[in-house]
Amino acid sequence: MGSIRDDFPLLAARPDLAFLDSAASSQKPRAVLEAMESFQETQYANVHRGAYRLSQVATMAYEGARKKVADFIGARDANELCFVRGTTTGLNVLAHGLAPRYADKTVLLTEIEHHANFIPWQQWAKRVGATVRYVPFTQGHRMDMAAFDEMLDDDVAVVSLTGMSNVLGTIPPVAEVAAKAKSVGALTVVDGAQMVPHMPVDVEALGIDAIAFGAHKMLGPTGIGAMWARAELLDEMEPFETGGEMIVDVTFEGATWSAAPAKFEAGTPPIVEAVGFGAAVDYLQGLGMEWVAEHDRELTAHALDRLLDEVPGITIQGPLDMADRGGVISFTLDGIHAHDLATILDEHGVAVRAGHHCAKPLMSCLGVAATARASFYVYNTEADIDPLVKGLLSAIDLFG
Ligand code: PMP
Repeated sequence: MGSIRDDFPLLAARPDLAFLDSAASSQKPRAVLEAMESFQETQYANVHRGAYRLSQVATMAYEGARKKVADFIGARDANELCFVRGTTTGLNVLAHGLAPRYADKTVLLTEIEHHANFIPWQQWAKRVGATVRYVPFTQGHRMDMAAFDEMLDDDVAVVSLTGMSNVLGTIPPVAEVAAKAKSVGALTVVDGAQMVPHMPVDVEALGIDAIAFGAHKMLGPTGIGAMWARAELLDEMEPFETGGEMIVDVTFEGATWSAAPAKFEAGTPPIVEAVGFGAAVDYLQGLGMEWVAEHDRELTAHALDRLLDEVPGITIQGPLDMADRGGVISFTLDGIHAHDLATILDEHGVAVRAGHHCAKPLMSCLGVAATARASFYVYNTEADIDPLVKGLLSAIDLFG
């Protein structure tokens, strides 16, 4: 049996490459690339428009992908899952659509959010007179649940938090947060960008009200993601974008909206990308999401051990134990800028990200301008950690 890496044409062609930047975007397996190509070669047409058979076949493929993605996160009804451009768009649609709910009230975020889960809420909060408050994290880089309990009162209308930090790797207790939010009548929205690709997710079991995630970090193509929300929320939310294919009627005076998901899918959707998204979900389900999460955990534990044992002067920005922690390791090295580290690692065939990771408020809390970040996925193995450690040691040699 070949390795998982062999399923990924780019990685198979580059045996020298240790690709440790899947938190930014993942590589694509042949199954996804072929599904998109074959769809375009044999079934392609616009969807939900044509009376002709080819368009109906394309529509079935598009709606089939919706069902696969909806099932993947345990949604009860595929119509609760709207295809959007990605996590960022999904969170913008939610912050906009739920604004009447939090007008003159409070939105609770956490300090560890990605900008995509900060700025939309801040922007809409300004317009509707809401207050945004931020739940701190503990010294151990966990969500501070005591502070959350204190901040959660009747004035809170929405809690929006990441399902897994793209900087620290921290996995907040989403189900506990959702249950507590519900007890004061608040909604829970989850930024699932890092969560959905890396662990089993069941939106009903978690008790959350909405989640957004993108295909490109979970083996699928760019340009497509999903926003799931409870049917009653989708009913009440105003669409963020308007235009073709999302209306019941249009007159010179105004328009009325179709039901979700069409209401949130104005214009021609990313049809080919939806087919790729469905194929990515099939591939992940073939591996099993329990296996994916366990693989991340084992690799991260191994990498943390080696980095802490073998690399002098390293500081890990994130939890050191593996409880509720995913496959993202951010680090700094005494006296060496993160960008220099990334450049030297590149010379050793190691691809890592360096910078603020679109989490500037978190960076200011950590007291660093930038970190280097290694992140893992299904195709990584312990062999990828060797050049990481070697590259860091040579950076220390170089910079003294
Ligand atoms: N949230 C988190 C936690 C992320 O890691 C990312 C991607 N870096 C996003 C949101 C935004 O995702 P996208 O750029 O795909 O919209």
